[in-house]
Amino acid sequence: MIAYIGIGANLGDAQGNVLDAIARLGALPGATLIASSSLYRTAPIDSGGGDYVNAVASIETSLGAQALLEALQAIELAHGRERPYRNAPRTLDLDLLLYGDGTIATGTLTVPHPRMHERAFVLAPLLEIAPDAVIPGLGPAAGFVPRVADQFIARIA
Ligand code: ADP
Ligand code: MG
Repeated sequence: MIAYIGIGANLGDAQGNVLDAIARLGALPGATLIASSSLYRTAPIDSGGGDYVNAVASIETSLGAQALLEALQAIELAHGRERPYRNAPRTLDLDLLLYGDGTIATGTLTVPHPRMHERAFVLAPLLEIAPDAVIPGLGPAAGFVPRVADQFIARIA
C-alpha cells in the first residue's frame, strides 16, 4: 500500500524535527520511504506559536492503516509531543493523509484526512511528489489549489 504522510512542526528545531520524522518513517518496520517533498514554511492556521515547517512523504507499507497511525503517534511521542489543548503548537505532527485509494472512518482515524484539501501546507508538498494525487471522494488534489491561494507558503531552499 502507498501511504502519504503530512508532517508539521512549529516548536523547537522545527526543520530538524521534520527531517528526523522523514528518516524515522523510512526506518519503520514494514515501511519503505518512496519520496519526500521539499520543506515548506507556512503561517499557523488555527494554532499558536511561530511559523510551521511542513512536508509530505510517501511510503510503501505493509502496515494496516490503524497500525500505521499508531506508528506515527509513536514518532510524535519520541519528539516529546504533548497535547495540552487542541491545535496547540507542536514539536511534531504526523497526519495520515492518504492510504492507497482507501476511505476509512473510525473513532480514531479518518482517511483521507478530512481537512487536507483545505490546506496549502498539505497540497503544495503533496503535489510536488505526486502531481496526479487523487483524494478519494473529492477528486484530483490539484483542483483544490486555487482555493488555498490566500494561504502563505514558501518553499525552503
Ligand atoms: P490535528 O492533526 O488535527 O491537529 P492531532 O494531531 O492532535 O490533531 O490528532 C488528534 C487525533 O486525530 C488523533 O488522536 C487521531 O486519532 C485522530 N485522527 C483521525 N484521523 C487522523 C488521520 N488521518 N491522521 C492522523 N490522526 C488522525
Ligand atoms: Mg495530527
